Amino acid sequence: MATEWIDITVPIYAGMVLWPGDPPVEISQPMHLDRGDICTVSRLALGLHTGTHVDAPSHFLRGAKGVDSLSLEPMVGPARVIEILETAAIGEAELSGRGIERGDRILLKTSNSARCWNSDEFVPDFAHLTLDGAAHLAGVGVRTVGIDYLSIGHGDDGPAVHRALLGAEILIIKGLNLSGVEPGEYDLVCLPLKIRDGDGAPARALLKSRDDPARGPRR
Ligand SMILES: [Zn+2]
Repeated sequence: MATEWIDITVPIYAGMVLWPGDPPVEISQPMHLDRGDICTVSRLALGLHTGTHVDAPSHFLRGAKGVDSLSLEPMVGPARVIEILETAAIGEAELSGRGIERGDRILLKTSNSARCWNSDEFVPDFAHLTLDGAAHLAGVGVRTVGIDYLSIGHGDDGPAVHRALLGAEILIIKGLNLSGVEPGEYDLVCLPLKIRDGDGAPARALLKSRDDPARGPRR
């Protein structure tokens, strides 16, 4: 059987969990077939950091690139899902020794995937990258870091974690649901909406296993 694409995107709906203080998701139908309109047209209002999304450097760095000028390379290509369940504070100690290399696309499957998406209530003690974890990935020179909840950093360190990654031109993908994904090697497709000068954008994110025997050796 051919390997299937796995959808690792969370759905967008009114009332979904958001980063605290972010604008609410509002969906309405200014035109609707049920009201005699010629077609149904919905209106969507949402923050650019809603659900599964990509951060642009301009999210934390003044004058930096918007989401429409980002390279697509970090968003499409081979990626590795690394499972780290033993701690919520993922640092250098958890990341080193895993063979992470320059140019890698890394998706962190943490305890968040099983725990956080079951509720529309924000989970404050989510698993995240620490400052030394972010510095480690920046030092290695990875291409992409994805995580399975609504921020990559936590608490007072959150902004510095973002700046360390974005300043090293590492793409940050947030809000992934990796609960149906085993650790391993995949092909990633994650395409954010092309919003001019956007500080981020919602994205559809997909994985396909590279362990399909029909494809032969993966490296
Ligand atoms: Zn964001």
